[in-house]
Amino acid sequence: MITTIRWTIASSLLVAWAVGPAHAQTSPDATVPVVAARETPAKRAVVNSIDRHASDLVALSDRIWAYAETALREHKSAAALADHAEQQGFQVERGVAGMPTAFVATFGSGRPVIGVLGEYDALPGISQKASAVEEPLQPGAGGHGCGHNLFGAASLGAAIAIKEQIAAGKLRGTVKFYGTPAEENYGGKIYMARDGLFAGVDAVLAWHPGDETQADMVSSQAMVDLGIEFRGKAAHAASDPWNGRSGADALELFTHGVNLMREHIKPTSRMHYTITAAGDVPNVVPKDGRVWLWLRDWKRDEVESLLVRTRKLAEGAAIMTETQATVTVRGGSWEMLVNEAGARLLHSNLLWLGPATYTNAEQAFAKQIQKATGVPEVGMVAGVNGLENQPQEGGSTDVADVSWVAPTLHVTVATSPKGAPWHAWPVVATAGMSIGHKGMVRAAKVLAATMVDLYVQPGTLAAVQAEFKAKKGETAYASYVPEGPPPVAEAQGSK
Ligand SMILES: [Zn+2]
Repeated sequence: MITTIRWTIASSLLVAWAVGPAHAQTSPDATVPVVAARETPAKRAVVNSIDRHASDLVALSDRIWAYAETALREHKSAAALADHAEQQGFQVERGVAGMPTAFVATFGSGRPVIGVLGEYDALPGISQKASAVEEPLQPGAGGHGCGHNLFGAASLGAAIAIKEQIAAGKLRGTVKFYGTPAEENYGGKIYMARDGLFAGVDAVLAWHPGDETQADMVSSQAMVDLGIEFRGKAAHAASDPWNGRSGADALELFTHGVNLMREHIKPTSRMHYTITAAGDVPNVVPKDGRVWLWLRDWKRDEVESLLVRTRKLAEGAAIMTETQATVTVRGGSWEMLVNEAGARLLHSNLLWLGPATYTNAEQAFAKQIQKATGVPEVGMVAGVNGLENQPQEGGSTDVADVSWVAPTLHVTVATSPKGAPWHAWPVVATAGMSIGHKGMVRAAKVLAATMVDLYVQPGTLAAVQAEFKAKKGETAYASYVPEGPPPVAEAQGSK
């Protein structure tokens, strides 16, 4: 469900690459000057470490790609990452925040404490071979249409590289890898944030696969996930319909209200729903009507106001139909608290690492996918976007909840052909072959290099934290998920 993908960044925003060893490079129309980060021995060491571990990381990523386990059912995927972290010397705490597939792997001691997030859940029903033509690996099975197999492996790779530097006495502090399940449904990080797992962490890093590469300066949408239920009375639809009160009538009036309300909401707001129950056969007055509705906006205040109005619509529909309405907040996420100081740091390390390089065969693979999906055949985008004018596109993520409890730095790295549909077969395909592997290794490097800067430059970490404090202000984080354990049992029964 939840993704922050940037689709349409104009090529004019791509940074032109300097040739040769000089790294002093400024993005063209920058109001914020950003130059490539300087190479340091520690930074070179983490990049070399990731190259050394690359084949292990690719193998790990490919295993998770093949498991393709969906939200809260990622048992083999979580175990693969947690076991690998343990073998690398991390202390691993499994089953955190009430989720058997969530874990935290820790190495080192003392401050600073730098965390890195890893996801590994797949999407149902989009199984696909690592092939440039649409062809399921196993019809009906899940697939990594958001590239989370790469996400988990890259972030663990970065944590391992940092661990080696701490173990060698070259860096001081603690590194924590967060195994965060269920991003596509339920929002595992929301439960982890709610349960205080990020307390005492100085900064958190995360990345996401995409079709371009950039340090992210744009937020994500706040969202609430609602279940609306109308309960009426069943009756024979022909012999005694006057005794019936229809839950389906109530939901029709309710959704009509939602759709009329669209004219009177901010252009930034989004409302989308599905009808999940409306009776089974025409000759029974439907007792129950159920709607699953999401409300979104870039500002949480706006979502809150939509929530109040939605409750009124449900109440009104119930009055009109003499049914009972129940509105349940099932979950939701906050909007991302963007850390610009962190984004500048990530950007400087992206510039230092340089663009991706693709073989002719990889570009041909990407173009074949683009042709098949009807988008311009431009291949893979190798460069790095600037920090300015990044488009604000729709989508929500549970990383946003983490961003309100700890300063969070977020980067997108290309793993898929430009413009090819997301949460769909093309992303599954490239997440299981060399194009995705390259993005995964590049992501691990930019995360690790940026983490090195946070360990060795107290001033930079302080700036990241000061911005977080200033932007957060007096706001106290309170998650949208209800009290009690995460819906692990419910997830076992789903696809
Ligand atoms: Zn995703």
